[in-house]
Amino acid sequence: MHVHVRYHSGMATPILLHACCGPCSTASIERLLSEGWQPTIYFSNSNIFPASEADKRFAELLKVAGRYRLPVIREQYDHSAWRQAVAGHEADPEHGERCTICFRYNLAQAAAKARELGFKHFTTTLTVSRFKNSRTIFTVGQAFEGFEPIDFKKKDGFNRSIVLSKEMNLYRQEYCGCEFSLRDHS
Ligand code: SF4
Repeated sequence: MHVHVRYHSGMATPILLHACCGPCSTASIERLLSEGWQPTIYFSNSNIFPASEADKRFAELLKVAGRYRLPVIREQYDHSAWRQAVAGHEADPEHGERCTICFRYNLAQAAAKARELGFKHFTTTLTVSRFKNSRTIFTVGQAFEGFEPIDFKKKDGFNRSIVLSKEMNLYRQEYCGCEFSLRDHS
């Protein structure tokens, strides 16, 4: 597996960062900046339910982007298209096949946006969470050109995201995102 690691040696390298929420973005952004990347944040996440929750998570993400003065792109929310993509997997447990399809759905959108905007690199904050398997995310991501398999859990990323989220007083959601994770959480 080829991982790009950049150090401070002149110009930062542009990268499109698929961001699932504000809290996960904190430590991911910090790490990207420290390794010589220049992130543009991309929020798609039609998996999030209900729409008001997606809006809430986006609002928190804007706070994080503001702190680091980074541009943010928001994709159109289309939960019914996402539901079609995961059809037949509604009963799957979290971390099962539905989640792999969900990762693919969001990373495909990020890959398309990266291509459209001329980014040679893109990655995702999804690997920060200790509840998500980075290897699965990398396997899905590597099908797309320009995907950078950066494991944001590493270097104490998850704990750092909690510290930074508290510092920024961010809302930290208690369920992954879709209605099925909400169901299984309650
Ligand atoms: S539990 Fe999370 S990763 Fe899995 S399908 Fe739902 S939103 Fe996607």
